[in-house]
Amino acid sequence: MKIDYGELKRRVRLHELLERIGWTITEGRGEQLRGPCPFPACNANLASANKARRRTFSVHRGKSVYRCFSCGCSGNALEFWQAYRGISLYEAALELLQILETSNHPSSPSKPPPPQHHYSQPAKLADS
Ligand SMILES: [Zn+2]
Repeated sequence: MKIDYGELKRRVRLHELLERIGWTITEGRGEQLRGPCPFPACNANLASANKARRRTFSVHRGKSVYRCFSCGCSGNALEFWQAYRGISLYEAALELLQILETSNHPSSPSKPPPPQHHYSQPAKLADS
């Protein structure tokens, strides 16, 4: 499957990905959002640190780019997903395509369950 990375980057919104993984915004000012770094390795350092440092991760909503002032990581939405999931860029792109696919249909977030199989009524009543 061929992936149009440029198109993907235009469609994926980084802050939506972060919402998806439960990232908490500790500070939001216009396009700029701040919060704790979502990368486990970086967060481990922060656990013992002062609370003020739990806003080291900065996200630009409009540009869909991130930067962490603690671990120094930075990139776009695609690179974020790749690093966060620990997978290849191609795999990350595939996952993002899937996420876009499911989030593009807000009216039907999940498919209705398949119809239950009911035992058919007895074709004929017991002879009387
Ligand atoms: Zn970090």
